[in-house]
This record gives sequence, C-alpha cells and structure tokens, in this order.
Amino acid sequence: PYDVLIVGGGPAGAAAAVYAARKGIRTGVAAERFGGQVNDTMAIENYIAIPETDGPRFATSLDQHIKAYDVDVMNLQRAAKLVPAADPGGYAEVQLANGGTLKAKTVILSTGARWRNVNVPGEQEYKNKGVAYCPHCDGPLFKGKRVAVIGGGNSGVEAAIDLAGLVAHVTLIEFADKLRADAVLVKKLNSLPNVVVHLNAQTTELTGDGSKLNGLSWKDRVSGADNHIELEGVFVQIGLVPNTEWLKDTIELSRHGEIIVDARGQTSVPGVFAAGDATTTPFKQIIIAAGEGAKAALSAFDHIIRN
Ligand code: FAD
Repeated sequence: PYDVLIVGGGPAGAAAAVYAARKGIRTGVAAERFGGQVNDTMAIENYIAIPETDGPRFATSLDQHIKAYDVDVMNLQRAAKLVPAADPGGYAEVQLANGGTLKAKTVILSTGARWRNVNVPGEQEYKNKGVAYCPHCDGPLFKGKRVAVIGGGNSGVEAAIDLAGLVAHVTLIEFADKLRADAVLVKKLNSLPNVVVHLNAQTTELTGDGSKLNGLSWKDRVSGADNHIELEGVFVQIGLVPNTEWLKDTIELSRHGEIIVDARGQTSVPGVFAAGDATTTPFKQIIIAAGEGAKAALSAFDHIIRN
C-alpha cells in the first residue's frame, strides 16, 4: 500500500508527487493520460520563471521531474471508484477500470477537467489553429485581431470583456434569447465599443483555409437566416467539466461537479485531499494547479504523521 496515492497526472498530480516523494513516503500516481491537459496545449507563456514553452515539452518536464524521485507512476490507468477508509488511520481504496485495486493511507484527487466542445464542423480541425478555450492562456495570441466568444454565461461574458481589451473586435454568440451572466458583467459588456452580441445564435461551423481558422457561421434561430463572420479566433466558453463523475457517491461536490476543498486541500472525507482543475479552487491554470498539488501533498503528509 501507498502512503500517498495520487489520482491524475497533470500539473496538480505531478507537483503533489514531487512534494510527497521528497518526504520519503511511499508515493504512487495513477493517471489515465500522464501530463493531462498540458498535452493539448501549444504555447505556455504564463508559468513563472519559464517565459516560454509548449505543452508537450512541459509534459515531458513533469515526467522527468517525477522520475528524479522514487514514485510509482501507473500511466493509462483510469480510476473508477473510491472507497474511503473504514476507520481513521485505515486504508482507502481506489478501484481501477481494469479491475485492479490500489490501497493508500491518503489519496490526492487531481483528475482535472475538460472543456465542453461545441461539436460543429471545423472545431477539431482548427483547435490550436484559431480555436481556443482559455482566454487567460491564449488571449494575447489574438492581439489586434478579430475574435468570437461562443457562450453567454459568466465565463463567456468575462472572456469577452477580457478579450475586448486586447483584440480589435469581439463577437459574442449566445444560443439562448438572453445572456446568462451576472447583471454587473452584462452591463460592463454592453458598455464596450468593440463588442457585438448575437442572441438566439446557433454556431453551425468554424471555417478555415485548411491550415487556420478564418470564420464562424451561425444560424439565427428566430429568422432562420444563415450568417457568416470573418475572424481569426474563436473562444469556446460553454463550460469546463470536472472529471469527477466517478466520485459523486463518495465525495462532496459543488453543483458544478467540482470537488469541494478547504484552504488545505482537504475534501469531505478525512485523508482524502484534492487539487487542481477538478476542485472548487477558482481560476483553472497550470501554476495554480501545481501550487494546489504541492499544498495537498503537504496536507497529506501532515495527516499521516498525526494518524
Ligand atoms: P489536468 O491537466 O486536467 O490533468 C488531469 C489528470 O487526471 C490527467 O492525467 C488525466 O488523464 C487524469 N484523469 C482524469 N480522470 C481520471 C480518472 N478517472 N482516473 C485516473 N486519471 C484520471 N493553463 C495555463 O496556465 N497556461 C496556458 O497557457 C494554458 N493553456 C491551455 C490550453 C488548452 C488547450 C487547455 C485545454 C488548457 C490550458 N491551460 C493553460 C489550463 C491548464 O492546462 C490546466 O489548468 C491544468 O492542466 C490543470 O491541471 P490539473 O493537474 O488540475 O488537471
């Protein structure tokens, strides 16, 4: 059995592994895809002290850093169920989809999240070639250009406000007949001169020239008219879904499915900690996930020495 078993091998899980292993305790990481979302990222320019890198390089560095320590890395392993320890100081169990079971004194959940796709033609083809999901990450790449934001909830409207200060023009596309963001955000959005909002607008296609995105087609759901806008970027903001479906019967989740954690990364179950995009910690970024992973590992160590 492990002292610390980390489920998820993105930046949060990797940081937790390094911090746990440096305490000299038995550490394991089970991950469906080691590296996590970073594998799908092109430029990374906001990880402090690394002015510029790219996703695959960053993922390789995570792997190398962990391998400098005595950590059991179990890649391509999907956790299917968590069984909390029966009594304090006992072992929790993580059951894997392949039928195996791992036991540990403490568990750190760092299964991350996934951006919801619009599922229209062109989205996959132009991902990272104009189609983006993270305004904090990719906004600066579109400086002075024309972009659209798909989604008029809080994240879409925040993205549009954020981008309007960087890019030449923002078109916000909302499927419903009104924006679903907080009134204060909608008011701010409406005050911006370089933003246009289309309601009742269904995105039908993201167009491109074969190598990069060049436009967005949408249908007016009231008149039925088809429209096309020329632009250089599209930010899809229709939801970030935490990978926590497998935990809903054991751990307290928010109404968005995020693992509820306190300031130490403690979940609702003693001995079970969580970190990164899968949790209620705001702002889903690599540096934040890594910091929270380190914190969860230190909390797990603290739990072990007290039990
Ligand atoms: P993830 O990276 O999501 O890792 C989750 C891990 O858990 C993976 O190993 C996954 O396989 C595993 N997992 C999931 N479910 C299970 C399960 N049931 N069993 C076992 N393992 C499981 N952030 C920045 O700071 N800067 C950027 O420039 C940037 N650009 C981005 C670009 C794109 C296209 C995307 C998608 C995201 C970007 N982000 C960026 C966000 C950043 O990638 C995330 O905030 C960060 O990766 C979160 O780390 P995490 O460890 O919490 O989760």
